[in-house]
Amino acid sequence: MSVPASLVAITRRQALAGLAASALRAAMARAQGAASARVVIIGGGFGGASAARTLREVAPAIDVTLIEPSRRYIACPFSNLVVGGLREISAQGFGYGAIAASGVRVIEDYARSIDPAARSVTLESGTSVSYDRLIVSPGIDIRWGALDGYGRTAIRTMPHAWKAGAQTVLLRQQLREMDDGGTVVMSVPPAPYRCPPGPYERASLIAHYLKTEKPRSKLIVLDAKDSFSKKPLFQDAWATLYPDHLEWRGASDDGRVSRVDPETRTFETDFGTLTADVANVIPPQQAASIAIGAGIADNTGWCPVEPVSFESTLQPGIHVIGDAAIMAPMPKSAFAANAQGKVCALQVARFLAGEAPAPAVLANTCYSYVAPEQAVSVVGVYRPAGDAFTEVPGAGGTSPLEHPPGDREAEAAQAAHWFDTVTREAFG
Ligand code: FAD
Repeated sequence: MSVPASLVAITRRQALAGLAASALRAAMARAQGAASARVVIIGGGFGGASAARTLREVAPAIDVTLIEPSRRYIACPFSNLVVGGLREISAQGFGYGAIAASGVRVIEDYARSIDPAARSVTLESGTSVSYDRLIVSPGIDIRWGALDGYGRTAIRTMPHAWKAGAQTVLLRQQLREMDDGGTVVMSVPPAPYRCPPGPYERASLIAHYLKTEKPRSKLIVLDAKDSFSKKPLFQDAWATLYPDHLEWRGASDDGRVSRVDPETRTFETDFGTLTADVANVIPPQQAASIAIGAGIADNTGWCPVEPVSFESTLQPGIHVIGDAAIMAPMPKSAFAANAQGKVCALQVARFLAGEAPAPAVLANTCYSYVAPEQAVSVVGVYRPAGDAFTEVPGAGGTSPLEHPPGDREAEAAQAAHWFDTVTREAFG
């Protein structure tokens, strides 16, 4: 069975429609037939939830188990709107009821270790779950100490808010409690990290909050890089909307932070120090600890996979998707994790039916808000080439810099539709 590349390519306007195409479902349904084969999925985020739902849909004979410690998933996309005071954190939460109702066995527990030889996962509760194929989508962990001074206790005074939930609420609260005239400092790590444009969306929405609620205050962004995703679009928006409230310093302008002091909320760069009233450190990251412990991450801290089935190149029988996997140049995004979850489900079903995996083309769209009702986006299309992905030339692009009135508002509406669609697909 072959899956035409076009079936899994997603255009900007079609968003998720390509992957949901009924033709793809029909092709995937043929991959059934592996009665009582067991697939275990670690992590119920965008990657894992999408893989679980897709497997139930395309290969109902397969026994699917999802291991996730949280009763409610708190989504990162749109959490910058919470930080900016434009959305409630309650709008970010999604339960696992619909996934369980679809026939997935949902285990509310933490996967403590993986035994690739025995093909089993041991849970925090002590029980073990056996698998024929394992899909690992555990997201990221912070690389504690990779930024000098930023240890586990630093998150009280210098929240990262890069895993949505309590940290998001804390950062929002600190911004609300700051006196007008205060300085907010955000530090951005070198790539790769979760959601490449995320820091700049957050900077935009914090600057919007300062401009409208605390006009004598300012945000300074200290960046370890000189270039970043959608830079011309963000800088255009910042120059127009927030000239007095947002200052970005790149690596060549002493933006690289070498050390932080959580006691004093101080950032040290190569040539100076900055003390903040509110400090947001976006720290260096790596694949979540279960992946490191299982030996499926390499010395970069991320998990190498082959690009057709996302099977680990280090441990056969284990597939890694989402932020934890090395999928570059595809970014670490919920859009990408959702697409990878679907394609991975198809490939796992094919393996279990005794068929070879079929190459697929994947796409990604990242929307970023630059103001409450204005957004910009970047689209990329990717296909496997050798042992990695390559971006299909000319197939993607960004929002135009010069744009007709209403363009940014239309993209903000598309962003909201995308969030509704992707969360409904994964959790609804
Ligand atoms: P996650 O969604 O993090 O899910 C991982 C799950 O695994 C979690 O539920 C966790 O509890 C579970 N887990 C971890 N370890 C274990 C274990 N040992 N056992 C069992 N379960 C475990 N992406 C976009 O596409 N668009 C956006 O607009 C966007 N905005 C963002 C804004 C911010 C501020 C941030 C931080 C990120 C944003 N992202 C966005 C990125 C997006 O959130 C991630 O790329 C996406 O969540 C990755 O999905 P995942 O399944 O790999 O990991």
